[in-house]
This record gives sequence, structure tokens and C-alpha cells, in this order.
Amino acid sequence: MILPIVAYGDPVLKKKAVEIDASYPNLKELIANMYETMYGAYGVGLAAPQIGLAIRMFLVDTSPFAEDESFSKEEQEELKNFKKTFINPVILEEEGDEWAFNEGCLSIPDIREDVFRQPKIKIQYQDEDFNTYTEEYDGLIARVIQHEYDHIEGILFTDKLSSFKKRLLKGKLQNISKGKIRADYKMRFPAMSRKR
Ligand SMILES: [Zn+2]
Repeated sequence: MILPIVAYGDPVLKKKAVEIDASYPNLKELIANMYETMYGAYGVGLAAPQIGLAIRMFLVDTSPFAEDESFSKEEQEELKNFKKTFINPVILEEEGDEWAFNEGCLSIPDIREDVFRQPKIKIQYQDEDFNTYTEEYDGLIARVIQHEYDHIEGILFTDKLSSFKKRLLKGKLQNISKGKIRADYKMRFPAMSRKR
């Protein structure tokens, strides 16, 4: 089932999300719905707060980047096959010199900006069966994980921009929170749900 994606301005996107355990109701179904929602919106990542749940879980599937010719064949292959569900993740380490990448977000349609992040991460997380792993990632995969991880910490990519850029985007962001935007997927807008 495709779930509506929460738009910029909804307080759930600003919350620090909480851990879950195996007793979380209908978890497998929720994860399946989140994948369907992410693919329906042509996203490469989706965090639980973006469908209105302040829990520490996100999904990543970088396969759409595999078509990008600017990556090496090896990187393309890696991006093509990277699909993973992260539950209760903790970024243990981030290292290297920050690099810029033009990021977007399903909760902030039509806005893309360069965001600076460190290239390498070490992350501990649990899978859908609550097995724990510690893994290292770099490049674009690390980038998508960092973006999604920020969501469960209540941080959006627009929070990381310069105050000048934020001022420039203010009107556009306000329009998104008021639902004055056209997205190709189902969204839920804070101003509209308040009216009910
Ligand atoms: Zn996002």
C-alpha cells in the first residue's frame, strides 16, 4: 500500500525518532509499504518520519543511480545492488574531507541543493529480523544513508544550508508546507491536516 509522504513543515520531521524492537506491530507489512511508497515516488531512500512515524528506521535502494555514467562500472554495479533496511541505526564514525552533492528529498519536492558531508561512515544497525551488523560505507551509498539518518534525528538537508541559502528558500519551503506544490506522488501537508 502506498502511504502519503509527509511534507516539509510537519512537526514529525523535526522529532528525534525512537528505537523499536521486534514487538513493533505489523513491522514486515510496514516495511513492505514503505518500499512501495519509496518506489512509487522514485526515491532512493525513505525514513519512517516521512510517512509520519517517529521511529528509528529507514530504507535505501540506490539502484536508480546505477544508470549514471559519471560513475565507474564498479561503482555502478555496487549502486545497482544496494538495497537495505536499517533499523535502530547508529552512525559510529564519519571521516574524510567533506564533499558536496546535490541532494533532494521526497518531503521537500522541487528543491535541490548542494549539501556537504563526510565521505566515509561506520554504522551499526539491525535488519528486519533484529540481527545486528556493523558496516562501513563510502561515496554515494554513505551519502544516502547520512541523509536518511538525519531524518530520524529530526534533521532535514535544508537545515544544513547556509543562512543565506535558507533565506532564499524560505518562500518556497512555506509554499510546500501549505500544500502549494505539485508532486507526482501522494503527500500529506501540515497546514491541511491542521484544518480538519
Ligand atoms: Zn529526505
